[in-house]
Amino acid sequence: MKRFTYNRATSVEEAARTAASVQGARFIAGGTNLLDLMKLQIETPIHLIDVNHIGLDKVETTEEGGLRIGALVRNTDLAANDVVRRDYAVLSRALLAGASAQLRNKATTAGNLLQRTRCPYFYDTRMPCNKRKPGSGCAAMKGVSRGLAIVGTSDACIAQHPSDMAVAMRLLDANVETVTGDGARRSIPIADFHRLPGDTPHVEHGLAPGELVTAVTLPPPIAGTHIYRKVRDRASYAFALVAVAAIFGKDGSARFAFGGIAPKPWRVDAADAAVTSGPKAVADAALANARPTDQNAFKQKLTVRTLASIFRQKEARI
Ligand code: SF4
Repeated sequence: MKRFTYNRATSVEEAARTAASVQGARFIAGGTNLLDLMKLQIETPIHLIDVNHIGLDKVETTEEGGLRIGALVRNTDLAANDVVRRDYAVLSRALLAGASAQLRNKATTAGNLLQRTRCPYFYDTRMPCNKRKPGSGCAAMKGVSRGLAIVGTSDACIAQHPSDMAVAMRLLDANVETVTGDGARRSIPIADFHRLPGDTPHVEHGLAPGELVTAVTLPPPIAGTHIYRKVRDRASYAFALVAVAAIFGKDGSARFAFGGIAPKPWRVDAADAAVTSGPKAVADAALANARPTDQNAFKQKLTVRTLASIFRQKEARI
C-alpha cells in the first residue's frame, strides 16, 4: 500500500473544503471497497478524509412525504429501518441481498452507490483494463466474462455495476444530494448519477473532484407489491448474475429495474409498458440492443426466467 495521510473531519463543510484543497484526496467511511483497492494500488489516494463523524447517519421523512437517507447510514441499519421495511420494501430486500452481514454492518449508503466493478481484470494489475488504466485495452473481451454486463456496454468496457441497493434506488427514482468544496449543493437524479462506459470507462459518475455525497432522497412511497429477486452463484456473499427489482400495482401497472446485466442500475421505460405482455416481452424491452459475449449470453434467458419467477410471486401475493 502507498503511504497516505489522514484526517478525521468533524463537519460536512470541513470534509468538502479539505477535499477541494488537497489534490488526490479521497473520502473514506466504511472502506469496504476502497481499502481493497488501495492494498492492490489500484487506488492510490495521497490523503484520506474520514467522514464517519460528520452527522450524516440519519433516516428522516421529508416534507414531500418521502425519505432522506444520510450518506453514512449503514446498509444494515437502512434495511432494518421501520419506514423502509414498510413503505420501501424493495429497498430493504435489495440491501439484505447484498454482500454479507459483516460487510453490511460497515458499508454506507454513499459507499454502496460509489463502489467499483468486480470485473476480475480490474483487480488484476498484470492485465489490460481500460477502466483501471485508460487506453490499455480490455482483457475481459476475450477472457472470462461470465459475470459481466450484456447491455449498455461499449467496445472499451463490459463491466457490470455490482450494487443491489442502487438497483432498488433506481426503481424508486431516488435523487443523490451532494456538496462541493465551495459549499454548492446539488441534487442529481439517480438515472443520471452513474455513467455508461462509452470511450471513457474510468469515468463512472458525474461527481466533481472532492464533491461529497451527503444523502439519497426517495420520493413518496409507491404502492404495490415490492419484489427484489437476485440470482447468483451462491446463496450469500456473491454478486448478482441477474437481479430484478419490481413494483406491481393493483391496477396492472408495473415498474422494473435490473442489476447484474449493465454498467449501471438498468431501467427502461418500454419494459414497464410491456408488463401486460408478460415476462419475455419485459425482458426483450429491457435487453434491446444487448451485446452479450459467448460466456454471458445465458443472462438473456436468465433475465426472462427471473422475471417469470417474480410474475408468479406477484400472483401469489396480490
Ligand atoms: Fe477493465 Fe472493463 Fe474490461 Fe473489465 S470489462 S477488463 S473493468 S475495461
